[in-house]
Amino acid sequence: MITKTPDIAHNLTQVKDTLPEHVTLVAVSKTKPAAYIEEAYKLGQRIFGENKVQELCEKQEILPKDIEWHMIGTLQRNKVKFIAPFVDLIHSLSSEKLAVEINKRAKEHNRTINCLVQIHLAEEETKSGFTFEACEAFLSTCQEKYPNIHITGLMAMGTFTSNTDQINNEFEKMSEFYSRQQNKFPFLKVLSMGMSGDYTIAIKHKSTMVRIGSTIFGNRSYN
Ligand SMILES: *Cc1c(COP(=O)(O)O)cnc(C)c1O
Repeated sequence: MITKTPDIAHNLTQVKDTLPEHVTLVAVSKTKPAAYIEEAYKLGQRIFGENKVQELCEKQEILPKDIEWHMIGTLQRNKVKFIAPFVDLIHSLSSEKLAVEINKRAKEHNRTINCLVQIHLAEEETKSGFTFEACEAFLSTCQEKYPNIHITGLMAMGTFTSNTDQINNEFEKMSEFYSRQQNKFPFLKVLSMGMSGDYTIAIKHKSTMVRIGSTIFGNRSYN
């Protein structure tokens, strides 16, 4: 199969031009070669997101050490140990059991690992995360229970749909929840919401961090 090489410089510049200054861009490089990351790096991009532990570790090993690596995908407990030494932000803290493991591995490395609590917002059953109620309960005890985890915000994914009304509704619900929790828990600074297909909508609903892959690096083909 032949895939056309994307014009990363052009795509990245275009995306960055549309982002307000307070919105952080995570360039999602999953399935893409290290050379693509190097090209974005040359243009000043320093934050990259991956969703597979093995791929993340392989890339981290060979690429510049000042890259900030974000884990954005479903994280299995038995793989936390591989990313614990270096990961900068885990977007997918999706259960109490996972928090126990991240805290343990962070402690082994004398680190505090930054995490976002993932909210189950979308309709799809396959997507994971806390309900609003469970998240609120988690936030009120996490600092005490998990001293080696620093919760810096929340993450959510919208339903995969072309129905913009639905996406608007979901992001609005998320945004209201985030604001309420921020009043109670001032340590919440980040709302990670928005991907290639819906990031402009997410920004209208107070997103402060967008995770953009295909618009920058081209469509992915899973074999
Ligand atoms: C793949 C992925 C993205 C980026 O998706 P694009 O549609 O390519 O921008 C964002 N967030 C998560 C959690 C992902 O797995």
